[in-house]
Amino acid sequence: MMERYARITRKLPREIVLLRGRPCIWGRCTFCDYVEDNTTDEAVMVQVADEVLGRVTGGLGCLEVLNSGSIQELPPAIWKRLRNRIRQTGIRELICESYWAYRERLDEVGRYFGIPTRIKIGVETFDAHLRNDVLNKAMLFDEPADVARLTDSICLLVGFRGQTREIVRRDIEILLSRFRYGCINLFTPNTRSAALLDEDIKAWFRQEYAWLDDHPTIEVLWQNTDFGVG
Ligand code: SF4
Repeated sequence: MMERYARITRKLPREIVLLRGRPCIWGRCTFCDYVEDNTTDEAVMVQVADEVLGRVTGGLGCLEVLNSGSIQELPPAIWKRLRNRIRQTGIRELICESYWAYRERLDEVGRYFGIPTRIKIGVETFDAHLRNDVLNKAMLFDEPADVARLTDSICLLVGFRGQTREIVRRDIEILLSRFRYGCINLFTPNTRSAALLDEDIKAWFRQEYAWLDDHPTIEVLWQNTDFGVG
């Protein structure tokens, strides 16, 4: 049974909901198993949204919405429910996710919901070869500034084959110097991506970067269920 509601209180306090949306527009990243929670049945999306959003109290002022894809993959009926709930509960800040392909449409998210909105973009790594050839992200850009122009909040992935310590160090450096918020996911393979796992890099990262746990705006998901949903 998936847990679809959680409260984060330790740092960056917020409520988190995991909704169900349409399949990711891309859906071909080699490490991703999100498709399993996607659906094309709008009645199911609405039912889940009503149930889960009903648990949101607004008590922490901030709400993060996940839907195993991009916020743009939630249909208008869900956007409307979400906006209603935000207004009812007095939520003052929204956090959500978008894939690179939606980069021209990020502004409309905050405009619609009417509150400051932070959109996380999954960069995974700034090494173009690893990002596009190994992870198959189809995310082409020239330099970190191209991403930083769009958002102050990115996700990185650590612990997959091909990553070296130097590459991970550079990724963390770019995150810390160019972005305000970061979410670093330690790679937890699913059945289809087991061959991608590099335990050595993961173990090294755990030691070398344990201090990131105390960073006020960087979150490390040592396990992929650390946010309490999923
Ligand atoms: S863009 Fe995100 S949701 Fe889509 S396949 Fe890649 S990781 Fe999964």
